Amino acid sequence: MAPPVPLDIVIAGGGTAGWMAAATLARFVGEAARITLVESDAIGTVGVGEATIPQIHNLLVGLGIDQAEFMAATDASFKLGIEFDGWLRDGASYIHSFGTTGRGVGLIPFRQLWLRGRAIGVADDFGAYSLNVAAARAGRIAPGEEAGLAYAFHFDAGKVAALLRAYAEERGVRRVEGRIEAVERDGDGGDIVALALEGDRRVAGNLFLDCTGFASLLLGKALGVEFEDWTRWLPCDTALAVQSENAGPPRPYTQSIARPAGWQWRIPLQHRTGNGHVFCSQFMGQDEAARLLLAGLEGKPLADPRPIRFTTGHRHEHWSRNCIALGLAAGFMEPLESTSIHLVQSGLSRLLGLLPNDLSDLSSARSTFNRLSTSEWVRIRDFLVLHYIANERRGEPFWDFCRAIEPPATLAEKLALFAESGLFVREEDELFLDDSWGQVMLGQGIAPRGWSPLADNVPAEDIGPFLASVAKAARVKAAAMPAHGAVLDAMFGPG
Ligand code: FAD
Repeated sequence: MAPPVPLDIVIAGGGTAGWMAAATLARFVGEAARITLVESDAIGTVGVGEATIPQIHNLLVGLGIDQAEFMAATDASFKLGIEFDGWLRDGASYIHSFGTTGRGVGLIPFRQLWLRGRAIGVADDFGAYSLNVAAARAGRIAPGEEAGLAYAFHFDAGKVAALLRAYAEERGVRRVEGRIEAVERDGDGGDIVALALEGDRRVAGNLFLDCTGFASLLLGKALGVEFEDWTRWLPCDTALAVQSENAGPPRPYTQSIARPAGWQWRIPLQHRTGNGHVFCSQFMGQDEAARLLLAGLEGKPLADPRPIRFTTGHRHEHWSRNCIALGLAAGFMEPLESTSIHLVQSGLSRLLGLLPNDLSDLSSARSTFNRLSTSEWVRIRDFLVLHYIANERRGEPFWDFCRAIEPPATLAEKLALFAESGLFVREEDELFLDDSWGQVMLGQGIAPRGWSPLADNVPAEDIGPFLASVAKAARVKAAAMPAHGAVLDAMFGPG
C-alpha cells in the first residue's frame, strides 16, 4: 500500500480564527504537516471579538501559554459573566454568570430548592446565591482556583492574533502576505488544490481551512455551500463598534444593555473599553444608532463608530470537500453570549479529533464534523433567541416584534419544560449548561409554575435556613476578595 500523502494544510485568513487554527495545528500536528497561512494586511480583520467564555482556558492550556503572560500581552481583564440590563424591561437587570449558582442537596438541583423556597416566601433573587454574581456586583476577583470563581477574559483581539501568530511562526507555520484572487479546484468542480494570489503567486495544499471571515471565499464562494439564514429568529443585522477610554477601574464582567432596536455592549479591557451597538436596521437608522451608542459611552470615544453588517446564520456544511470553515466564514450568531471565538476553538478540536491519516476518503470525517457542528450551533442559536423573545419591553416596535417570533421547536420544548417546574436537561454535549439556561430563563421573566417533586424531599422548615446560608457564604467570600482594578494593577502595573 502506498504511504499516505503528507498533510499540506493551507489556512486562508489571519484573523482570530486563522491564527487560532495556525497555532493549534502547529502545536498538535506541526511535525506531521506543512502549514501555510495566507492573509492580506490590505483587507484586515473584522477587528471585534473581545469577550470570551471560560472554555478559553482550554486554548491556553492546550497551547501551553501562561495565563498571566497571555493577559499581559493582550491587555486582558477578567470576566465573571455578562450583565443583561433592561432585557426584560427598563430598570431590570440580571447577570448570567459563569460557574454554578448555589449547591444542590444530593441529586436535588439547587434551582428546585430555590423554587420551593420562593413559593414559601423565603428566597432572595436567584443571583444572590451565586459567588460569581456576588463578586461581579462587588467588582472583585480572585483568580486562584481555591477561590472558586469561574472566569474568562476580555482582551484585545488584534493582540491575541499577534501573539498566536508569533507562537505559530516559531513552530514553523509559513505566513504568506497577499490578496487571494481565485480558488483553484481539481478538474471540473473537484477538491481545492491551490489559492491564486495577487502578483501571479500560488499556494498549493491538500487540506484548506477557510478563515476568510464574512467573505467565506473558499467554502461559500468557491465551493458554493449555501448559507442558512437565521434572521427570522435573530433579526439584528448591523453593529457599530467604537473603543473608548476607561472611565474607572474595569468591571469584571461584560455589559449588555438593551436599546430600543437592539443592545449595546461594553467590554472593559485594562486600558480601554470596547463598545458596540447591535441593532436591527429595519427598526433604526444608522445615525440614530450611532447617536445612542456615543451617548451610552462611559469614557471619551477613541475614534468614530465603525459599521459592521452581518446576516445571522451559518453555512449548511462547515466542511465540504477538502475545506473546513472556521470563524465568520462558517457563520455568525450575535455576540450576545460571546460564543464565536469558542466556536472556532470547538471546531478546531473537532477537526483534530477527526483528522484522517489518509486524505483519499474524507467522507466519514466530514459528515461527523458537519452533524456535530450543526447541532452545536443550533443549541447556541436557541439560547440566544431566548434572550430576545422573552422580553416585556411592550410598546417598542423592535421588542414587540421579537416577542412575536415563533421559537424554533427545539427551544419551544425547553421553554415549556422550564415554565412547568424549572426543568432542564442538557441535550447531547450542548455548550450552555443548566446553570446558564436557568439564569437567563429566570432573568428574562420566565417564572416556573411549580417545582420538581425532588425538592419536596427536604423539610419545608429547612429550606429558608439552607438558602440563607448559601447566600451568606457567597456574599462573605466575595467581600473578602480584592478589587478587580487592584488585581490588574498588581499583575501588570497601574493602567
Ligand atoms: P476576520 O477577523 O474577518 O478575519 C478574516 C481574515 O481573512 C483576515 O485576515 C483577512 O485579511 C483575510 N481575508 C479575507 N479575504 C481575503 C482575501 N481575499 N485574501 C487574503 N486574505 C483575506 N466573538 C466572541 O467570541 N466574542 C465577542 O465578544 C464577539 N463580538 C463580536 C462583535 C461583532 C459585532 C462581530 C461582527 C463579531 C463578534 N465576535 C465575537 C466574533 C469574532 O469577531 C470572530 O469570531 C473572530 O474575530 C474571528 O473572526 P475571523 O477570523 O473569522 O474573521
